[in-house]
Amino acid sequence: MLHASPRDPFNVVIEKPLSASEGVIEGRPTLLFGTNNYLGMSQSTPAREKAQAVARSMGVGTTGSRIANGTFSLHAQLEQRLAKLFGRKHAMVFSTGYQANLGTISALVNKDDILFLDADCHASIYDGAKLSGARVIRFRHNDPADLEKRLKRSAHESGARLVVIEGIYSMTGNVAPVKRFAEVCKANGAALMVDEAHSFGVLGENGRGAAELDGCEGEVDFIVGTFSKSLGTVGGYCVTDHDDIDLMRLVSRPYMFTASLPPEIVAATLATIDDVEAKPELRAQLRANAAQLHGGLRAAGLKTGEHPSPVVAVTLDDIPQALAFWNGLLEAGVYVNLSLPPATPDNFPLLRCSVSAAHTPAQIEKAIAAFAQVGKAVGAIKA
Ligand code: PMP
Repeated sequence: MLHASPRDPFNVVIEKPLSASEGVIEGRPTLLFGTNNYLGMSQSTPAREKAQAVARSMGVGTTGSRIANGTFSLHAQLEQRLAKLFGRKHAMVFSTGYQANLGTISALVNKDDILFLDADCHASIYDGAKLSGARVIRFRHNDPADLEKRLKRSAHESGARLVVIEGIYSMTGNVAPVKRFAEVCKANGAALMVDEAHSFGVLGENGRGAAELDGCEGEVDFIVGTFSKSLGTVGGYCVTDHDDIDLMRLVSRPYMFTASLPPEIVAATLATIDDVEAKPELRAQLRANAAQLHGGLRAAGLKTGEHPSPVVAVTLDDIPQALAFWNGLLEAGVYVNLSLPPATPDNFPLLRCSVSAAHTPAQIEKAIAAFAQVGKAVGAIKA
């Protein structure tokens, strides 16, 4: 099947990032439209400077777990910073966003409990569910009424009930109706966790995500997120007002049994949090760029989600066409992500494009023109 593309779409090497929007691939400058660098923070100057200074003064790693020798005062500072930013009592920092989901879910529920997961939740949420041993009930994507039906059906059962949704879904860019979900959870005695991995820094007046956008942060029990997208570094977190979080530090295996974040990454993350907070204009630029990309791809005759979002998924009919399209785009100097069934919602192949505040209007126009030209060549756009 992969012969429809002479290149392996899952083994692309970026030889050198040139900026937040361009990198060298196969020796040529290529526009990057398949990253999670929503605010361009991977190239933040203050973050690079802080990271360099900390690496010089403290070294490049902790060589230990958060519960042993791996907590420096910088880790504690980052947790205090996150708690303050979200207006929550507690924050816990993990080594990746993947581990934040694994570590939070597996600490909150066990085999006697029930997890209600959106059908399109990320693999880290499903893996966290497996690690927890809790029973999993999936509900229809972004459908609070379907969740409510399933909560009511299991109302007679004992054990805790935890609902997990995402702020922005990573593959499709769909935004969750968090407030409606929060109402359903409250009415049916379930706790709510929202993974704001793709929505932090992006949605809400202050960039705190989909719950802020929907005006219901106080109704969300646990917010999980990552530093690897709008914050441009690596790491994950959970924030909450629940006082048991310190217990979580002693039962969460993905928190305990792995090395903590290197100090230069923590320092860089503190710097990009400051940047994200101080520059709301980046969010406005991101919104304008998202509207330009979404509008341009639809005008070219491609199938996308209905609403603009920093993630724009182009749905294709079959896998050979998706592979040829992806390959043609790379040849035209545009890199996007390819997602193939069964890992895609509704089992259609997707070209997952993402936009950054760092893209210029001219770069976005160039990407749209490449989509139009290659789309016609592979038969995805009918003449
Ligand atoms: N949650 C969601 C919704 C994600 O899309 C991802 C990564 N794509 C993660 C968690 C994991 O984050 P990280 O890559 O920082 O481990």
